[in-house]
Amino acid sequence: MILTVTMNPSVDISYPLEKFNLDTVNRVAKAIKTPGGKGLNVTRVLKQLDDKVIATGLIGGALGIDIQKKLTEMRIENKFFEISGETRNCIAILHEGNQTEILENGPTISQSESEKFLEYFEKLVQEVEIISISGSLPNGLEDDYYSKMIEICNKYEKPVVLDCSGRALVEVLKNEYKPKIIKPNTEELSQLIGKEVSKDIGELKETLKNELFDGIEWIIVSLGADGAFAKHNDKFYKVNVPKIEVVNPVGSGDSTVAGITSAIYENTSDENLLKKANTLGMLNAMEKLTGFVNLENYEKLFSKIEIVEY
Ligand code: ADP
Repeated sequence: MILTVTMNPSVDISYPLEKFNLDTVNRVAKAIKTPGGKGLNVTRVLKQLDDKVIATGLIGGALGIDIQKKLTEMRIENKFFEISGETRNCIAILHEGNQTEILENGPTISQSESEKFLEYFEKLVQEVEIISISGSLPNGLEDDYYSKMIEICNKYEKPVVLDCSGRALVEVLKNEYKPKIIKPNTEELSQLIGKEVSKDIGELKETLKNELFDGIEWIIVSLGADGAFAKHNDKFYKVNVPKIEVVNPVGSGDSTVAGITSAIYENTSDENLLKKANTLGMLNAMEKLTGFVNLENYEKLFSKIEIVEY
């Protein structure tokens, strides 16, 4: 069983508009509302792969109930921890080829909720084989909260796939408790080391040798249309992907994380792990919906990926 973690989920609302008019009324014929947050995107892709998955995190209020209901309708097992605050909405207005987003911060978590969730999480960790943690931390949780969660996973020797950025990631890298895998993109990597990182292979290789990453078995840097560059212990790999027709790349990184998690769960080879992760990233980019993949094209894309050891 795989456990996915979304600490600040949302109901994602998409408003398609032919034209977005400022300072007046805009009427929307068809609003699309889906459970959102990076961890839930990962969850949806894992479900499509037919992997056994449980979704957890913090949830509250009417929108929290709505998310649970929708996940259950999708036959996704969910064990969220209820908080007193209200789960947020995140709005994307799609207009004239643009995407204007309005993102609520979401609830503030109390000290007692923060402590109780860790106890709740510790029980869940014992029921699963691997944990996939994605996205930002809600207000009220300390920057080292993911480190505390990883400490629990390490205690039960359960691997963690971590996809987060900013201060939460910095704290994890400083801490002694390590995830098995992190998946930064070049922007997140640049933020981490405090200088612009290009897609140059030599530079990426040197960057990943930085002692900041010591103790993390796998670092997979996703490079959008350029595939990925990865370090597994002392081995380095460039993943070359074929050209695809991109429809909406939002969520491709989450789909990649689903592939990584699924591959670790299956205990497959480095080559298969990298191919699976990138195939799913590409499949997401080829769809309009976030966290959705059309698996009919899986084999075709998978066979076109090239893994080169550096
Ligand atoms: P993130 O969403 O975290 O920034 P990326 O944009 O790097 O992640 O996308 C993750 C993966 O999805 C890439 O490593 C690649 O395999 C695939 N992908 C994303 N965009 C494209 C694209 N334009 N062409 C081909 N593959 C893509």
